[in-house]
Amino acid sequence: MSVQMTVPADPVDVIFDILASKGDADYGGECVSQLQHALQCAMLAEQAGAPSPLIAAALLHDIGHLIDDRAHQMRDSGVDARHEAQAERYLKQWFGPDVTQPVRLHVDAKRYLCATDIAYWDSLSDGSKKSLEMQGGPFDRTEELEFIDLPYARDAVMLRRWDDMAKLKDAVTPPLKHFRPHITSALLG
Ligand code: FE
Repeated sequence: MSVQMTVPADPVDVIFDILASKGDADYGGECVSQLQHALQCAMLAEQAGAPSPLIAAALLHDIGHLIDDRAHQMRDSGVDARHEAQAERYLKQWFGPDVTQPVRLHVDAKRYLCATDIAYWDSLSDGSKKSLEMQGGPFDRTEELEFIDLPYARDAVMLRRWDDMAKLKDAVTPPLKHFRPHITSALLG
């Protein structure tokens, strides 16, 4: 009798399969696809000299939209699917808090920036302004101070700024495989 050995899949392959196969979904009514958005966000993080875990977080911050088929439907009916919490739960099987926490906090970082930077709200896309309301609107002063004290909150704010810039139609980015070394090095040992 032969025994079949199953070799566990490389997590990076699993993740890249999701991005490559589902990433052509539109990005919340923006003019870029989910995959283009993820690549632009990771490219901006890399250009800013971010460490590998934060580049991984930038690439994967919206994976919650791709692993939950109900997400689009819920958003269209005005319900927040909490994609950032779904992404955190999913990613923590492979990554530590230096990846999962900026991802989890990237929506609250928008609420923080809207409360602390007057020009920020103005700069948001219409889609992002709309989802802000579903996400609870700008933080009040107490929430703002509590947020920025959290571990990885500052990383989440940086990620948020790249996220908001990563919506350019026709921007040229490196291919997905370019980011593999960053993702691999961010995996839990
Ligand atoms: Fe995003």
